[in-house]
Amino acid sequence: MIKHIFGPVPSRRLGISLGVDIIPFKTCTLDCIYCECGGTTNLTAARSSFVDAGTIIEELKPFLAQHQTLEYITFSGSGEPTLNKDLKDIIAAIKKITLVPVAVLTNGTLLYLPEVRESLLQADLILPSLDAVSPPVFARINQPHQDLEIGAVIEGMVKFREQYKGDIRLEVFIVSGINDGSAELKKLYEAIKKIKPDRVQLNSLDRPPAYDHVEPLDTGRLEKIAAGWQDLPARVEVIKRAGKRREIASFSRNLENNILNTIDRRPLTIEDLEELTGKKRIELYKYIDILEREKKVIAKIVKDKIFYAPTS
Ligand code: SF4
Repeated sequence: MIKHIFGPVPSRRLGISLGVDIIPFKTCTLDCIYCECGGTTNLTAARSSFVDAGTIIEELKPFLAQHQTLEYITFSGSGEPTLNKDLKDIIAAIKKITLVPVAVLTNGTLLYLPEVRESLLQADLILPSLDAVSPPVFARINQPHQDLEIGAVIEGMVKFREQYKGDIRLEVFIVSGINDGSAELKKLYEAIKKIKPDRVQLNSLDRPPAYDHVEPLDTGRLEKIAAGWQDLPARVEVIKRAGKRREIASFSRNLENNILNTIDRRPLTIEDLEELTGKKRIELYKYIDILEREKKVIAKIVKDKIFYAPTS
C-alpha cells in the first residue's frame, strides 16, 4: 500500500514533482497561523523514526519506473520532514536509485542541530522558511514549540549556508498586521543578508488558513517589499497567487475565450499555448490561474508533461 508517496503534481516552483511525506499528519515544530493544513496536532521538537529508508524506496520504485521525466522528488506534506531521524538515510537511498534531483521543503527550525544540517547536505534544493526575527513576532505567527529560540534558528540557517553548496530558496510568508511592519521587515532583511540564500520568495495567504483572523497581504504590497530588498545578494521574487480579473491590467476577455476554445479541442501545454496565442507564458499564466481557480481549467500530467484541459 502506497502511504508516503504522492503525485506527481504539477508545480510552478518545481515543475513536475513527486511528493514524499515522511511525517505523520500535522506533526510539526511550529503551529503557523497561516498553515493551509490546519492546526498542528502534534507540536514537537523531538526527532523520531517515523518511516525508514527501505519502506520509502519500495514505494518509490514503481513511481520512478512509470514517470521518466520528473523534475524533482520533493520532501513535503503536512508536517516538518527534518523531524524524521532517518531523513539522511532516506535521501542517500533515493540518490542511489535515481538521478532525479531531491528537494526538501522545511521550516528550517531544526537547522541549529548539526545532525539535521548534515542530513540535508545531499539534497539538491532546500526550501526553508523564515517569517520573523523578533521573539514576540515569531511567537505570534509561527506559534513554535517551547524549545525553539528564533536567534538559534537563524544561526542554524547561517551555518547551513556555510556547509551546503546547493540551491537554497528561502520563503518568507507575510501576514498583514503581524510581520509586515517596517521594523520587523528590516530585521528580516538583515537576517536574510546573513543567511545568504540563492533566492528569497515572498508569499502570502492563498487558501483558507489554520486560524480565522489571518489576513493576506495583497500582491502590490509584496511587490513593494521585494523592490525594497533588491540589493540583497539573492534574487527576490513574489510567489504569484491566482489573481482576480481586475488585477490584470487590460484584461482581455478575448484572450480568456481564446485559451478556453483552444484547450477545448485538445489539452495543451504552456508552450503550445504560447505558440497558438502568440502571448508570453507570464501573461498566459495569469489567465490560467484565474481559470483554474474558477474551476474552468485543470492542470493534468500526461506522459510527464503538464497539460491544461477544460474541467468539464
Ligand atoms: S511549518 Fe509548515 S506544516 Fe508546520 S505549521 Fe507551519 S506551515 Fe504548517
